[in-house]
Amino acid sequence: MREFPARVRAAVKVGSERSDIQEFDWPTVGAAEGVLRVEASGVGGAEPEIYRSERWQPIIMGHQVVGSIAALGPLARTMWQVQPGERVVLQEYLPCKRCKWCLQGEYRFCPAADFFGNSPNRIGLLSCAQPPHLLGAFAEYMFLPWNTVIHRIPQDLPAALATLALALGNGVQWATFDVNAGPGKTVLVIGPGQQGLGCVIATREAGASQVILAGLSRDLARLELSLELGADRFINAETEDLAARVQALTGGAGLDVVIDTTGDPGGRNLQQYLQVVNQGAWLWVNCVDSAVPVREIKKKYLTVRSGRGRTWQAVERALRIITSRRFALEKMCTHTFGLGQVDLAINATAGRKLTGAVHVIVDPWQV
Ligand SMILES: [Zn+2]
Repeated sequence: MREFPARVRAAVKVGSERSDIQEFDWPTVGAAEGVLRVEASGVGGAEPEIYRSERWQPIIMGHQVVGSIAALGPLARTMWQVQPGERVVLQEYLPCKRCKWCLQGEYRFCPAADFFGNSPNRIGLLSCAQPPHLLGAFAEYMFLPWNTVIHRIPQDLPAALATLALALGNGVQWATFDVNAGPGKTVLVIGPGQQGLGCVIATREAGASQVILAGLSRDLARLELSLELGADRFINAETEDLAARVQALTGGAGLDVVIDTTGDPGGRNLQQYLQVVNQGAWLWVNCVDSAVPVREIKKKYLTVRSGRGRTWQAVERALRIITSRRFALEKMCTHTFGLGQVDLAINATAGRKLTGAVHVIVDPWQV
């Protein structure tokens, strides 16, 4: 029988933009449950907003997690097909596994785990006030409920790279599964955050003929990094005319696919790229407050999609891209902080308190 610690340290969000280190009892593990020893957790692009919110507290944040199985009930061993000591990454969804979406394998649409629902059942968003407490990854260990979604990873994959599985999984889902950015396509990605860079990598991997990334002046380091991650060119949309630059860079051929990972306030990006999208183009949009340009959609026969997380298959493909080592993904992993610096880690992800962060990692064992 392995010895486990009696107490587990975790960074707890106790209020809006406030966190504390707290200790919790080692959880009781049922037959269909387990415990993960956290190696590292990435800070997600949505995490600064959750950290600022008054809605979720007290919680242990963090869901881009990589770790090894520390404890495992007998049923969990069968369900998850893992062994103690095996390394895995998790998805944040804790789906019901009974609804019509779960039964189709589309747990990202499960009402129980839906981010737009009243109480999304997701790792990193659940109260730590009651046992088993440890349902977020900014902690030394995490409790694994029966409905945890698990991906096995190679034993020698560096933990930092593995924390990119969900961000790159989003890239695979949004760029290639949702809007067919693939062979022969000319693709514009807007927004060089983790998700936008993930879309660039996935698009390049899928065989697109030209990949252009657009960002702002403050994104210059990320835009330059994108040239090592599969982008052919980048545009500073703050100082350059987006539509005119696209026309110049594509020799007047225009765009087959646009993936706008930004919130696009006021629909400013939309107005620009609609001028240079081709007939039959695919758009992936995230601008929840903009009017839908039905006239343009009809005139150009556009297909418009938006993002709702990612599938199992998208993360599996992302893990294959990561383990292939074809991309300089280690250059995305710019900063690592310990549990006591979770506040800085989250702020850095939002470009506050320090600059130059791309993908920030929390290592719970770093002193
Ligand atoms: Zn369900």
